[in-house]
Amino acid sequence: MTIFSIFIIIFLKFPEQTVISMKKFLMLLLLLSTLLTACAQTEPIERSLFAMDTYMTVRIWGDEDDLDAVCDLIGDLDAALDAEDASSEIGRLNESGHLTVSEETAELLALAVEYSIQTGGAFDPTVRPLVSAWKTAETEPPTVDSLLPLIGTEKVKVDGCTATLSDGAQIDLGGIAKGYTAQVCMEMLAEQGVDCAIVSLGGNVQTLGSKPDGTKWAIGIADPENPDETIAVVRFDWSMALVTSGGYQRYYEFGGVKYHHILEPETGYPAENSLASVTVLAQNGTLADAFSTALFVMGFEEAVEFWKGRDDFEAVFVLKDGSILATSGAAPLLTDCEFEVVSR
Ligand code: AMP
Ligand code: MG
Repeated sequence: MTIFSIFIIIFLKFPEQTVISMKKFLMLLLLLSTLLTACAQTEPIERSLFAMDTYMTVRIWGDEDDLDAVCDLIGDLDAALDAEDASSEIGRLNESGHLTVSEETAELLALAVEYSIQTGGAFDPTVRPLVSAWKTAETEPPTVDSLLPLIGTEKVKVDGCTATLSDGAQIDLGGIAKGYTAQVCMEMLAEQGVDCAIVSLGGNVQTLGSKPDGTKWAIGIADPENPDETIAVVRFDWSMALVTSGGYQRYYEFGGVKYHHILEPETGYPAENSLASVTVLAQNGTLADAFSTALFVMGFEEAVEFWKGRDDFEAVFVLKDGSILATSGAAPLLTDCEFEVVSR
């Protein structure tokens, strides 16, 4: 019912009182319509940028200042968290083994350790020596056995803003940094009074609120066999993070053989199991990112057991044989594909 029809009904039912308070009512009407126009900004503004080694898009139903603030925040986090950059906080921490870092970096390091413990080490931010070995190998896969003693989050201590690495440990936040960035962007926008936004940071998507036009968010899951195509679509109309980890996203190639970028911390080699990709759906973007990496390392069966023990995420699994499986909470949101439901 429109404000105008409410006004007509009031007028017909209570003509005398309405005439007396007409002035007040008209003022209220004016105020309400101004407010509604302000809230229901129908056209979003958008910006694309390259950061964290990937293309990013930020779309908000807000103003240019809000957009500037988000892009600045992404730039700051990129500069602090990039292990490849020797002058970043993580670069300097890896170099010296001991550093007082910004509050955000300290918070993320502590979360990375926490999620590593929760996932039984499947997600492990100390994979940096392994990642470096794979990145710098030239003609054949690296020999990583001698690096395995350097891996393990028990070698990372975060005390307030001071981080300490022991036993030659080094940090790589590539498996969690984009999710954390999306999460803090959304928190900042919400604090600035923005009701609706979506960021896509590489494979990480996070939404804030529901769209003013009433349509749902529709987030495609890439087909691992043909990543430019979508294999399924997730539809919903609330705040949520969706993060996909897949062997198809990045890889190293030696002698015509592809080795993907998600490493099993126990062996130092790319995780090989029946999964082609896993998409985690969660309220929290940082958790979604850490868990997408962890679930991919665990493999389908172990990932399902892990999901059964928690209530803070759902998942969509794409297996190498092309089949799609969705946990019971993800299933109602999944469209444009055939899939099986995984229940608790
Ligand atoms: P994602 O795409 O979020 O699954 O993260 C993959 C990136 O995280 C890789 O490119 C590495 O930088 C890093 N990484 C690889 N294996 C792991 C692991 N097991 N735990 C944590 N980070 C990892
Ligand atoms: Mg991840």
